[in-house]
Amino acid sequence: MQKLKVNAERLWESLMIMAQFGLTEKGGCNRLALTDNDKKARDLFCKWCKEAGCEISIDQFGNIFAKRKGQNSDLPSVATGSHLDTQPTGGKFDGVFGVLAGVEVLRTLNDNNIETETAFEFSVWTNEEGSRFQPAMQGSGVYVGRFDLQTEWNKTDVDGHNVKDELERIGYLGSEPIGQRNFGAFFETHIEQGPILENQSKEVGIVRLGQGIRWYDVVVNGQESHSGTTPMALRKDALAASCEVITEVEKLGLKYEHAVGTTGFMQVTPNSRNTIPGQVRFSVDLRNPHPDVLESMHEEFNSMCQSIAKARQVDIEVDHFWYFAPVKFQASDDVKKAAEKVGYSHMDIVAGAGHDACYMADIVPSGMVFTPCENGISHNEIENTTPEQCEAGANVLLHSMLAASQRLAEEAK
Ligand SMILES: [Zn+2]
Repeated sequence: MQKLKVNAERLWESLMIMAQFGLTEKGGCNRLALTDNDKKARDLFCKWCKEAGCEISIDQFGNIFAKRKGQNSDLPSVATGSHLDTQPTGGKFDGVFGVLAGVEVLRTLNDNNIETETAFEFSVWTNEEGSRFQPAMQGSGVYVGRFDLQTEWNKTDVDGHNVKDELERIGYLGSEPIGQRNFGAFFETHIEQGPILENQSKEVGIVRLGQGIRWYDVVVNGQESHSGTTPMALRKDALAASCEVITEVEKLGLKYEHAVGTTGFMQVTPNSRNTIPGQVRFSVDLRNPHPDVLESMHEEFNSMCQSIAKARQVDIEVDHFWYFAPVKFQASDDVKKAAEKVGYSHMDIVAGAGHDACYMADIVPSGMVFTPCENGISHNEIENTTPEQCEAGANVLLHSMLAASQRLAEEAK
């Protein structure tokens, strides 16, 4: 028997049609959350899903769910989805590919008259990008209870428009209470947004883990003094001490597998050519997908700051103000089996960025399928991929969802 496969041409065509909403001169997309272009994209998604026989529900945060019935309505659904919003200078694939891979799965099931054991649901999550309104992954975060609905409704953009009014304006302030869907598994297909799959010549990535994150604000206090008259041995140079810390952060990133360590922000006071810097503020971002390794990095970073402070006779304050726990994708075996079944080259991979599935993993076994993108570039108008790469991602999604549906039906017996 021929293996069930999606229609690659139709998927690509759908992507190109969706890209018209907010298309930029350079061929990218500007489709910020809850703008008129976001509304047009949502409307088209709903239209396509209705035409394919789905029932549409919209929750109070504008998250959209299109449901295709299964044989057994008592079983939890197998769901997929991603986001339709983009960065202001975003590409044609980040997010929208995951949504339309779902639509293609839906159409493929219909074409082949397949009745699945559980229902299938196709979702669109509100404001994943966090560009117009913060934070990122806002809709899925509200859905799983990480964020409070009222607080997120009240968030405003730079012009003072709030989320709730904008949802209402574009017709997506739904009535369904938050978190009411009965999901048994959730899958998200996404371009990798990094260079690993392309470098390794793999068609798909099985996302096993998502990076955990620790964010710090560091303030180094030394002593301002004259750069010409203060001997080297008597200085308390806050910037030289900071440089040492930053170099150690880089070494921490190099020390452990999958680890990264970054300083991306710095302020020097007084920032004057002939005064030894008295105070420096900078950021530190440490990431690792294993909780114990991230904990070790945290401890090593703290003790390293203390010893540098002692050796250089400066004061180093470390404010550890945000922790995002590493994510384990419990349904990644379904994805791996699917990739093997359809015969794609694959590798395990870590999600370096946040995705809606990272939050969904809080409440339901979840899996992610990554596909390569050209030179690993994303959040850029030149973001690119190929019809074949998209086809591979959608085929793996299709078979992941079918496998999960069968698994859920068997577990219920
Ligand atoms: Zn995305």
